[in-house]
Order: sequence, then C-alpha cells, then structure tokens
Amino acid sequence: MANNTTPKTALIVYAHHEPKSFNAALRDTAVDALKKSGYTVEISDLYAQRFDPRATKDDFTGSLSNPDHLEYHLEAKHAYQTSTMCAETKAEVDKVRRAHVIVFQFPMYWFSVPAILKGWFDKVLVAGFAFQFPNDIHDNGLMKGKKAIISMTTGGTETMFTDRGVHGDIDIVLWPIQYGTLRFCGFEVMKPHITFCPAYSPKIKRKELLTEWSKRLQGLHKETPQSFISIKNFDPEKWLVMREEYIQGEANKDIASSIGHHLGKRLPSGK
Ligand SMILES: Cc1cc2nc3c(=O)[nH]c(=O)nc-3n(C[C@H](O)[C@H](O)[C@H](O)COP(=O)(O)OP(=O)(O)OC[C@H]3O[C@@H](n4cnc5c(N)ncnc54)[C@H](O)[C@@H]3O)c2cc1C
Repeated sequence: MANNTTPKTALIVYAHHEPKSFNAALRDTAVDALKKSGYTVEISDLYAQRFDPRATKDDFTGSLSNPDHLEYHLEAKHAYQTSTMCAETKAEVDKVRRAHVIVFQFPMYWFSVPAILKGWFDKVLVAGFAFQFPNDIHDNGLMKGKKAIISMTTGGTETMFTDRGVHGDIDIVLWPIQYGTLRFCGFEVMKPHITFCPAYSPKIKRKELLTEWSKRLQGLHKETPQSFISIKNFDPEKWLVMREEYIQGEANKDIASSIGHHLGKRLPSGK
C-alpha cells in the first residue's frame, strides 16, 4: 500500500497521441497498479489536453517585468509567485504539488522525450516552484520527497542501447532527463522503466511486459531511489565545481560514482 493512513496521490504525465498505442496500455496498467497500491491517480494526457509546449509570453496573465525582452525563466518565476500563471500551466503545477509519485510515460523521440513533454518540463518545473538556483537544487530541490519514474518505450532493442550497441549506453542517453531535469529539481529519481522495442515483440511478450510494469509499480515503495553525488560536494564559491576533497576520496575507485561526473573512470551501470 502507498501508506496505511495518509491518502497519497500519483500523477501520470502521459505523452502519446494514439489511444491504441503500447504507451496507452502502459498508462492504463499504471493507473490500475497505482490504484491497487492505494494511490489516488491523476493523469495529464498532454496530447488529449492539447497542451501547448511553447514557452511564450502568453503563459503569463499579469504584466511582464520587462516587456521589451522576454526572459522566460524570470517571468515564469514571477508568475508563479504572484499567481499569474496561465490556467493551463497552473493546473499542471497544482497536479505536481498534490503528487507524491510522478510517472512520466512516453515513447523515446530522438534520444529524448517528445516535444510536448519537453514543453511540459519547460513550463511546469519553473524556478520558485520546482527549484531555486543555486541553493535549492538536487538534494535541496523543491521537489524533495516526491518520487519520479520514467516509463519509456523505444524503437531500438535493448542490445542496441548498450556500450557496444549502435545507439550507445541507455544510462548516458537518459542522463539529461534523470539528472539534468528530475534530480536538479530534487525528485527522488527511481530506476527508469524501459520497454525496449514493443513494436517488434510478440503479442504474448507484450502482455508479459505489462504484467512486469504492474508488479514493479506495486512494489515501488520498497525500492531505493538512484543515487547521485550530493550537491554539498560542489563548491558554491567556485561556480559549483566539485570539491577537491571529494575528488581525492574518489581517487582509488575503479568505477565512477556517477555517469556525468565520471572523473575519467569506468562508468557505473544504472541497473
Ligand atoms: C519522431 C520520432 C522519433 C523517434 N526517435 C527514436 C529514437 O531516438 N530511438 C528509438 O529507439 N526510437 C525512436 N522512435 C521510435 C519510438 O520510440 C517507438 O516507435 C515507440 O517507442 C513505440 O511505442 P508505441 O507505444 O508508439 O508503440 P506502438 O507501435 O503503439 O505499439 C507496439 C505494439 O503494441 C501493440 N499493443 C498496444 N496495446 C497493447 C496491449 N494492451 N497489449 C499488447 N499489445 C498492445 C500495438 O498494437 C503494436 O502492435 C522515434 C519515433 C518517432 C515518431
């Protein structure tokens, strides 16, 4: 169960245009599994909602601090703080605020998320709400205490996404989303759930993939989030460069502690 006493909310941010897609089946499986685990489930169905991914001045209902030069991050923060976000963004911010767990369900597009989901990141995870640079990021990010899990499908096979496969290591491919976006905002980033190549899997295998996803979500409360290097190891006096003491402490390790901060060592496996 999510929790025996306090009701918990899960948000599924879903980015696929086709109701008969495998992504839709994964979404429906997640709704069912999360409800079985005691969550109230909310969905942001971005294509169905016709979510506008463009970051423009129309996202703000109040007057701009600088009408001559739109600095989106500053205006977005101001709009959040003065309750002048447009209704579409505010509704998403409110859903994130209520959520204890967020599932991002999407097909990989060009080694990343579909544009509509990228737009959701740009407009919803804004300064003042999701993070505050430089103090409230990573371990101290304002999304602290919320779990986030990527559920992504691919066109490529699992072997293609290895260090010897044609596409390269999947953990490197996901670093910008997992670390650069979700961890930056302070989410507890759970191991990604990747459904490789559903289009070329036999039907029976696809059913098994849905069952695996259901089981995983029902056991999510027992999982440990992925570990990242703590923000305290980066020196604010030196533009957040890694502290020398931390580098010294890593000196005798063969394997890096993090994909992005590999210090020239062998990369860790995210599995
Ligand atoms: C712009 C673009 C960029 C892309 N970039 C990349 C990239 O960089 N790397 C990469 O690897 N791929 C890439 N792709 C491919 C894309 O990631 C895959 O096509 C996508 O992930 C497949 O998921 P889907 O839900 O669309 O599958 P679908 O094709 O919708 O589904 C797969 C199969 O599952 C069946 N199915 C649906 N529901 C069920 C159910 N309940 N039970 C059993 N079977 C079911 C469907 O009928 C279908 O036969 C890209 C695609 C596009 C359009």
